[in-house]
Formats: sequence, structure tokens, C-alpha cells
Amino acid sequence: MADAFATITQKRMTGGFRIDDIDGQKIHVDPGPGALVRTYQFGLNPLKLSGVMVSHSHTDHYSDAEVLIEAMTGGMTRNKGFLIGSRSVVEGYKSWGPCISKYHLKKPQVTVLEAGGYKKIGKIKITATRTVHGDPKAVGFKFQLSDFTLSYTSDTAYFEELQNEHKGADVLLASVIRPGDEKIRGHMSANEFGKLVGEVSPKLAIMTHLGMKLITGNPDQEAENITKKTGIKTIAASDGLTINLDDFRPKQQTLDEF
Ligand SMILES: [Zn+2]
Ligand SMILES: [Zn+2]
Repeated sequence: MADAFATITQKRMTGGFRIDDIDGQKIHVDPGPGALVRTYQFGLNPLKLSGVMVSHSHTDHYSDAEVLIEAMTGGMTRNKGFLIGSRSVVEGYKSWGPCISKYHLKKPQVTVLEAGGYKKIGKIKITATRTVHGDPKAVGFKFQLSDFTLSYTSDTAYFEELQNEHKGADVLLASVIRPGDEKIRGHMSANEFGKLVGEVSPKLAIMTHLGMKLITGNPDQEAENITKKTGIKTIAASDGLTINLDDFRPKQQTLDEF
């Protein structure tokens, strides 16, 4: 199996991130404002996308989803690619969403995921994880291959069972809004994330979606504190950060049969 399985590109603040690729799929997750522009800025091609995923109905996670769907489908000329979104994003739920027009839902294969639900894309199992957030239908996403798991909490408060949702993650990616112990409703502080990192015990932990207070403070120091406390490599995402996921995946075994 020679799956090119390379990088995840992470943008501070609002562009979301792109997995490029996982089992041959190029997926943009939570394309907020600037996602399209930054895709080009960092030398990636939105026309090559195989999927767009949106975790919940807040603008900073969905605003560029429609333009990325247009790029993915060749300007809406082809049935191509997939869209996976929360119920609020795709169908709307009470006063949340919908966030994507009926027109843009026509060309990609559309899947609605509620917490606990999953969808197989090729060899990848994508499970929606639970959150506690303003949008009651908000989910995180867990991407599982036979030998690798990437888990993304999306926006959520810390809660005791959160670790179960992300158990087994090799790489854990989370929205962390505030430094230290500063609490904010529906989100995790750096210390709470540190607790989650200790519980999930991934090979790499990444703080993303950093709030203003974290950016103007010292996000690298916050990450360093978590690394020291847990012994698990933790980093704060910065614009254009690229991580080679293969570094956190067991070496591929090759078997030659004669
Ligand atoms: Zn949110
Ligand atoms: Zn957010």
C-alpha cells in the first residue's frame, strides 16, 4: 500500500485546516474566512479537493465552504467530492444554520453526521465526536485508518467524557481559545486542553483556533507547559504550519511475495 499520506496544513484563526492527503483524499475541514485565499497562499489547489467538512454553524468554521465546494466541483459543473457537515450546517436546526445553500448541496455527495455517527470514505472511517458548544448539533471529527487516527475536537468545552470521544488518537487537534485557566463558555482553556492531552495520550497534540488572548500572549509557552506536564509533544498552530502525519504513523511494512 503506497498511500501518499502527507501533510496537514493549519492556519491560525479562521482558515481551518487541510489534510493533504489521507488515503488519497484531500480534505478541507472547517473552512472559515480566508480559507480559499490561504489555500492558494500556501501553494495548495482547491480544485484538487476531494472533500469539505464543516463541524458546526459558526461563521469562523463555514464561511468559505461554498466557494470551496465550487472549486471542488469545477464551478459546479461536475458531481464530484463529498461534503460532511453537522445537521445544523446542512439542514439547519432550530436557530442554527443552515450554512450551505441548496444549490451548493447539489453536486457533492452530502452526508449529515450527528455525534456518534460515522461515514466511510475509502478506507477512512470518519466519526462525528461529541461536543458541548453553543450549536447543539456541533461535532468534532475523528479520522481512522487501520494504523493511524487523527482526531479533531472542534469547538467544545472540556467535559469528562471528552477523552472517550478521542481515545486512540495519534494526533489530537483541538480548538483552544484561552491561555492558562481562563474559562470561556463552550471552549477549552490551555489548562483544560492539557488535561485532555494527558488523558488521550496522543503522539502529537496541536492547539488551534487560538483566541486573541492566546495569540497576543505566548501560545508557544502554553504549548510548552503542556509538553512538560504531560510528556507529550504539544504545539500551537501558526499560519501555514505543515505537519507530516507520517511521522506519527507506524512505519509501513512491506511484504514481497515470490
Ligand atoms: Zn463555534
Ligand atoms: Zn470557532
